[in-house]
This record gives sequence, C-alpha cells and structure tokens, in this order.
Amino acid sequence: MYSDFQQYLNSTLKEITEAGLYKNERIIVSPQSAAIKVSTGADVLNFCANNYLGLSDNAELIEAAKKALDERGFGMSSVRFICGTQDLHKELESKIAQFFGTEDTILYAACFDANGGVFEPLFSEEDAIISDALNHASIIDGVRLCKAKRYRYSNANMQELEECLQQAQAQRFRIIVTDGVFSMDGNVCPLDKIYELAQKYNALVMVDESHSAGVVGKTGRGTTELHNLRGKIEILTGTLGKAFGGAIGGFTTGKKEIIDMLRQRSRPYLFSNSIPPMVAAAGCAMFDMMERTNELQDKLHSNTDYFVAKMKEAGFDIKPTQSAICAVMLYDAKLSQVMAEKLLQEGIYVVGFYYPVVPKDQARIRVQISAGHEKEHLDKAIAAFTKIGKELGVIK
Ligand SMILES: *Cc1c(COP(=O)(O)O)cnc(C)c1O
Repeated sequence: MYSDFQQYLNSTLKEITEAGLYKNERIIVSPQSAAIKVSTGADVLNFCANNYLGLSDNAELIEAAKKALDERGFGMSSVRFICGTQDLHKELESKIAQFFGTEDTILYAACFDANGGVFEPLFSEEDAIISDALNHASIIDGVRLCKAKRYRYSNANMQELEECLQQAQAQRFRIIVTDGVFSMDGNVCPLDKIYELAQKYNALVMVDESHSAGVVGKTGRGTTELHNLRGKIEILTGTLGKAFGGAIGGFTTGKKEIIDMLRQRSRPYLFSNSIPPMVAAAGCAMFDMMERTNELQDKLHSNTDYFVAKMKEAGFDIKPTQSAICAVMLYDAKLSQVMAEKLLQEGIYVVGFYYPVVPKDQARIRVQISAGHEKEHLDKAIAAFTKIGKELGVIK
C-alpha cells in the first residue's frame, strides 16, 4: 500500500525542490540571541528572529521559569477546564489584559490556535468576516472553520474595505480582521481608518498583534497605542512566541463577553493542553518588566531608526516601515538568495524571500531588528550589506 503513496510524496517533494521552494533548516547550537552559533561552528549575528525585545535568553525570565519549574512542576497534563488551570495562568491572563487595556484574556498553546479558535464560536452563516488579503495563515484557517460569509480586501486598501462593508450590510454581524503588522513589508495596518469605517458601517474589529505587540507604539502596547484606540477594539490576538520571550503560547484579549464565550466554545482551548507553569510564570515576569520600564522598546525603536537611516544612506531601497521589520528590496528572486548566502559568509544571518511568499518581482531580504542588537552589531550588518550590495551591483 505505502509504495504508491511513497512515490507520490517523492515526486511532489522533487517538484518542491526543483521549484527552489524546499525548506532546509539551519541548526543553532546556542541559545536564541542577537549573536548565535550555528552547527557549522560559525558565529553569526542573527537578523531574522522575531526576538524583537531580545528576551529569548533574558536572565530574569529564565530565573522565573526555573523557579516555577521547581515550585509548580513541569506540565499540567490537562486542558484548562478540567484540571489545567493554576493561579499562574489566571495571573498571566490578567497581566495581558492590563498590558493591552482590555477587559479579559484567554490563553492558548499558540496564536495559531487563538486565531483558529476565535471565529467559529462567535460567528455563523448570518454573519460576515471581512479580511485583509495579507492576513496570517492562521487567520485564513480560522475563517475557513467558520460558516460566516467571507469578504476580502487587498492589503490595507480602505476603499475596497468600504465596498466590502457596504455589501456586508445584508449580514447580521460584521467583523473586520487584520494583522497589526504585515510580516513581509513591516507596514502597520491603518487601524485609525479601519476603526472609522467600522463605526460608520456598524462592524466589530479584530487585530492580530503578533508582530506589533511589544514593538509598535511608544511603549510597545501595539497598534491600539499607535492609533490612540486603547480599549476600543473588540478582539486582539497575539503570541508569546515573538517579542514576549519567544517560548510558546498565544492569547485572545478583548471584551469580556467575547472571552467568556471563547472559554465555553473555542475548540483549541477546550481540546488542547494548558501552557506549562514555567512558561506562564516567565510570561508574568515579562509583563512585570514591561510595566516597570520602557528601556527595551526605546532601544528597539532607536536601533530600527538607525539601521533604516544608514541603509538608505548606503543606497538601499527599504520599504517604509513602522515596525522592527525592514524589507531590503531586491526585486530578483535569485539575487535575494545569493545575497543572503554571501551575507551569511560575512557573519550576518538574514533570509531572502521571493514568490510565492511575496508577490512576483518583489523579492527581498527581510531584516528583523532587536533590542538585543548592540550598535556594533548593527554597524557590522550595515557594513556587510554595503560590501555585498556593491559586489552584486545592488548599490553603487
Ligand atoms: C507568528 C504569527 C502567528 C502565530 O503565532 P504562534 O504563537 O507562533 O502560533 C499568528 N499570527 C501572526 C500575524 C503571526 O505573525
């Protein structure tokens, strides 16, 4: 039986490889950080992690996790509603709500689950979900699991959104769904305009803050801080796997009735394990740190401004960004791969993206800045980009 299936898999894998889309993993043999060691023995500077605040190897979080490991054990062996809730989980949920200025929070194993489990319990055939075309895969999957009528507008296109809202007046409830920061360009969703349209056409709003939480806004409170809409958005989702320490875990935070309904009906919450106590404890320590100081956000913002300014000065074409994502535009798929490889030889770890991950002829190298980067790291990256950029004729 297996041989036919095996043949089919092998031929599909061959197609993937021939299209240049086969994903190989680079193996890291140190903690995740700004400076890492990879399995070839090379020491490289990491510019492609979502470690925006540099917390992946933070001593205070490690200490909090160790303490919880000793005091609260390794795992919960249960979903939340049977016997998987410790005070640590409740504490973390309330700290997340405080951080975002929302009413209540529900934790998930990942933001993929938060997005997968948010639509189906809340909306049905009578309702409409209006989604940005560049929304994350987990939002797309979550929408698929729900029977609501679907509308889609091109990325951040407010005219198209308005048209969708007009068509969706026939439905009972409408919700506009958007990523806070779009991961390939680094642009922030136009939440001020989205909110205005939502008011005008009687719609709810959901923002996935995965790439924006901890990053966007003066104190990193995300797109609602940037656009002065704190407490006004009905649903926010986010991850503990990016700026917030990078371990694992996701959440939905917002209006209390919505969170209450999700606790009753959201399938990834009801049928999947609680996050480990050490992750919850480190999460609590992380949000305490955010309340105490804005040091990391300040450093991240000044690092990003510095990097973007210097790269533009060197002649690179950088997409306008309001996040810690800097897209260095190359427009050529092959060039993006060659350039990333040469940068790695210079000790700078970045990834080149091309179609179908980004539109045709929009190939680029995506650089992700971190508060963990020191000025000498940034300078080394800028010097390497400049050297290789000249070598490959990208800049003069
Ligand atoms: C990373 C990401 C997710 C998934 O988060 P996990 O917690 O890793 O599952 C969901 N949405 C967006 C927009 C993301 O960038």
